[in-house]
Amino acid sequence: MPGNLTAQVFSEWGFPVKNIFHIAGPCSAESEEQLMRTALALKDYEVHVMRAGAWKPRTRPGSFEGVGAVGLKWLKDAGKAANLAVATEVATPKHVEACLEHGIDILWIGARTTSNPFAVQDIADALQGTDIPVLVKNPINPDIELWQGAVERLTQAGVKKLGIIHRGFSTYEKTVFRNQPIWRIPIEMKRRNPRLPMLCDPSHICGNTGLLFSVAQNAMDLLFDGLMLEVHIDPPAALSDAKQQLTPKEYSRLLERLKIKKVSSESRDFLENIGALRREIDKIDHQILDLLALRMDNAREIAMHKKKNNISILQPARFDEIIKSRTREGMEKKLAEDFVSRLYQFIHEESIRLQEQVIND
Ligand code: PEP
Ligand code: MN
Repeated sequence: MPGNLTAQVFSEWGFPVKNIFHIAGPCSAESEEQLMRTALALKDYEVHVMRAGAWKPRTRPGSFEGVGAVGLKWLKDAGKAANLAVATEVATPKHVEACLEHGIDILWIGARTTSNPFAVQDIADALQGTDIPVLVKNPINPDIELWQGAVERLTQAGVKKLGIIHRGFSTYEKTVFRNQPIWRIPIEMKRRNPRLPMLCDPSHICGNTGLLFSVAQNAMDLLFDGLMLEVHIDPPAALSDAKQQLTPKEYSRLLERLKIKKVSSESRDFLENIGALRREIDKIDHQILDLLALRMDNAREIAMHKKKNNISILQPARFDEIIKSRTREGMEKKLAEDFVSRLYQFIHEESIRLQEQVIND
């Protein structure tokens, strides 16, 4: 559930959002009939804005490339018939101009475009003096500064109604996702820009419908403010992204199953319980830091002895033994192997750094 701040932002955009801001609709505008049927089917469900892409240059040329500006007219007409606002993707100043002409209500900048500051700057220039909300998808690669940079270019051009969308990142290795979510990146974006509504696009993260619910639920658990989901009246017949689109009915079922989380509660019971546990955690963290400081003091002393005896800082066998024995002990204590292994690699790295300092002194 969006915090009060985000609820206020959505209402400034003209959307009285009670819980989650919902954008749904097909990947691409394909025909007048397809958009009209989708809009009329979505109308009965929880949705604030209908989406459809008009320009769809694919990774390689030759397949369906989108219907172009005529799709904007079909989209707007469908939206009007169903009393829904409409959104589409823009990648060039011409797209922006066409959208403004057709009365499109919200724009989004696609992942490929966010990756390119030249294109973002051109779009920002074209948006000067307008009042339309713009959502910025994360760039293709997990580079937070590119994402932040796009937000800043738009802000500097005077775009006031801004939001961000996490749609996952491209990875070289195959994963179960089409685009892997890296949650800490949108979370850091939200920390830096608390007034920006943060949406998740599970459709482009998953690339299929099987994982959609769990990714959408993840986003809810992480307090995302909205969802963008691809919904098609007849997914198998879709001209793009057929595998990841839901029917309107499946969309409504997914929303029904979602558990919307809130950031806090007034319940005394909850506040007392969580307060006591947090005080306990604070105490434990104190102890952890005391012990870490002690451990590092020890490492410095070891470094003195190594220096005196001309012994190498890195002791591969000892390091191997530490990782193995600590992960073993950790697992006995129900700590994940990977967590303990990474923790000790990190501690060891710091210990090496400190020992180098002592030896070079
Ligand atoms: C889309 O939303 O249809 C799209 C092309 O998304 P992305 O920019 O996330 O690939
Ligand atoms: Mn798509």
